[in-house]
Formats: sequence, C-alpha cells, structure tokens
Amino acid sequence: METEWTYVIESSRFNIIHIPKCKYFLEQNMLNEQVNRQIILDSRPTGYPTSSNFRMLESNIPSPKEGQVLIRTIWLSVDPYMRGRISDAPSYTPPHPVGVTMPGGTVGKVVVSLNAKFPVGTFVSISSGWQDYSISDGSNVRIVDPASVPISTALGILGMPGLTAYHGLFEIGRPQAGETVVVSGASGAVGAIVGQLAKLAGCRVIGIAGSDAKIRYLLDELGFDSVINYKAESVEDQLKDSCPQGIDVYFDNVGGSITDAAMDNLAYKARIIICGQISQYNLQEPDLGPRNLRQLLVNQASMEGFIVGRFADKSESARQRLTDLLMQGKLKYMEDIVNGLENAPEAFMGLFHGNNFGKMLVRVSSDID
Ligand code: NAP
Repeated sequence: METEWTYVIESSRFNIIHIPKCKYFLEQNMLNEQVNRQIILDSRPTGYPTSSNFRMLESNIPSPKEGQVLIRTIWLSVDPYMRGRISDAPSYTPPHPVGVTMPGGTVGKVVVSLNAKFPVGTFVSISSGWQDYSISDGSNVRIVDPASVPISTALGILGMPGLTAYHGLFEIGRPQAGETVVVSGASGAVGAIVGQLAKLAGCRVIGIAGSDAKIRYLLDELGFDSVINYKAESVEDQLKDSCPQGIDVYFDNVGGSITDAAMDNLAYKARIIICGQISQYNLQEPDLGPRNLRQLLVNQASMEGFIVGRFADKSESARQRLTDLLMQGKLKYMEDIVNGLENAPEAFMGLFHGNNFGKMLVRVSSDID
C-alpha cells in the first residue's frame, strides 16, 4: 500500500490539519469489518525499531459479555514512550511483553453495548492498543463529546501530550511573564503546546526543531519568537544569540547535544524540565556527553524529570483549561495522519527520524458508520 500524502486542509474551526488522500482508507475500512487485526510486538528492537519487530495477527472480533461494550478503533496514537515500553531496560513501567498486542491510546466508537452507560454510538478514549476492536467494561474509558471538539484531540492536545505540556510547564517550569522559555522537539505533539502556553504566559519562546517547514510553522502559525534548526545550525551559537539574558525555563524533549547546548546558556535560577530524551531512546551504548552540571551549580538552577501520570489528580482541570483555550482559538494544533492500522509501525518508527509533523495519529477506521 502506498500512502499518498497531501497538504489539503481539512476544514476545521480549530486549526490547519494536513490529511492524506482517502481512497485506500475507504476500501480498507470495509475490509476491517470481518476480523480483528492486531499488531503484535514480535521481538524487542536493538537500536532503532524496524518492521521486523512487529507482526499482524488476525482473529475473530471479540464478543462483549453482560456489562461490557465492543469498541471499534477510529484513531490510534503512536508515541515515543512506546520505544521504552518495548525495551526490557528498567523503567517506570514493566516492559511490554513480546507476543502481545502493541499498547497505545485510541479513540473509538461503541458498536455493541451490553452496558447502559455506554450506548451504541458513544465515542470513547481508551488505551486499547494497536487493534481494530477491543472490549471494555467501561472502567477504563473516558467519553469523548464529538460536538465540542474533533474526537482525535483526545489523543493530542486534549490528551496525554497536551497534559504533559501543561503540567510539565506549569508545575515544574513555573514560567513568569517576561522570562525566556526554550523548548526542544518544538514542533511535536508536546513541544508545540509548551511553546504556545509559554507565549500565553507572557514569555519569550525559542523553539528547536529539525526542518525548515517545522520552523516556518512555529514562527508563522504558532507565534514563537525564534526557532533554531538543530540540523542546520549550531544550537549553542543560536541560543547565545537568541537568549542574551540566558534561559529561564528549558523544556527538554530530546536530550543529547541539544540539551548540553541549553545547559551552557542557563540564566540564574533556571528551571530545566526533563520531559523526554528521544535522542537517547535507540542508543545501544549510553551517550555520556559533556559533564556540564557545573552550570546547575553556578546558576543555582534546578533540573527535574517527570512522568505525566504524576499529576493525574489535576488532569481534568488541566484538560478543561486546554479545551477552553482551544475553543477560544488561543491554541492551535497540527495532526499528522497515516491511514490504515497496518501502517502503524511505520508511523511509529518515523517518530525517531522526525518524519512526523505534529501529533502522529493512525486512522484505523472511519468515524462515520
Ligand atoms: P513528537 O515531538 O510529536 O515526535 C517526536 C519528534 O522528536 C520528531 O518529530 C523529531 O522532530 C524529534 N526527534 C526525533 N529524534 C530526535 C533526535 N535524535 N534529536 C532531536 N529531536 C529528535 O513526540 P511527542 O509525543 O511530542 O514527545 C516528545 C517527547 O516528550 C518525547 O521524548 C517523549 O518521550 C516525551 N514525553 C514524555 C512524557 C512524560 O510523561 N514525561 C509524556 C509524553 C511525551 P524534529 O524533526 O524536530 O527532529
């Protein structure tokens, strides 16, 4: 299957969304009705994941029991954290087992219901993984209202990445108006929201991203003050130029040499938020880098890592705030959509090469019956 990409704009009152042409998808969607396709972790990657680490399995569509519902997946999120899950290195969650359906957040529709709380036609957000259908008793789902915002936002700006940006920036970064905020991975699902929230908080925002198209988007559409192309420029030199008073808040999504450059440009009492280290996820040997922790000492700066789940008790208020900002037109988002469950591995692998432009989503089936 060849995915045809286009920058046709899907009409939306919220933002620009680039979507692929849909011919293949519609044909595929009809085929999906017969079986439940599941993409299984077949082996653990060594270094960058490859398609040989995944395998498609087909089985009968499961039948819900009393109190349960059958959910047809519409949107599947692929995220960098999944690279950690499929490794057996110690982490904050146990390794995802080989031979089991890949994990992942989804948005789907209830198509059979034996649970009165979730009638047929209800849209729900659930972690049901890389498959066409799933069963739930309702305990692990959140209802998504399609009337207020596009349902796919439950996986991006109003889902885990949006909450990550919100909590990381405000709980750990605590930006003040007039401060300088630098965000790496700036055009991604998390980074683009961090930059916009920091702008709304009255900060100067400098982004770091990996292509000219991403840089134009951050400058022209999202209103970043300055953006550095880390593949074409010296990040250290550019940070010196664009942050003459130093960096007050560094929101780190990538780690490695980009973070070293940020560390060399800290302001007094800077806050460094370790959200992600994507440049490190596929390394087979640890990347030690320069030992510039002295910068924390001399600037009396602080560095803190976090996992979004730590702020679960504040998720609903944060989601409401993000929803309000979205509906007021103060936040924008970009989605990068690939069609077909079978293309999920490629979409996932592309995250580690900067192939995605915005929140990477897989369209598994139509939201129209
Ligand atoms: P994303 O930014 O939408 O996609 C990944 C992007 O990372 C790519 O598009 C690419 O953009 C950049 N990238 C890939 N390899 C890179 C490298 N070697 N050096 C520099 N940049 C690289 O992903 P996301 O969902 O927003 O996640 C961003 C980060 O936050 C990830 O590290 C993720 O693990 C982390 N995260 C943490 C939490 C938490 O709870 N702490 C929650 C969600 C996400 P370019 O074209 O700019 O290179």
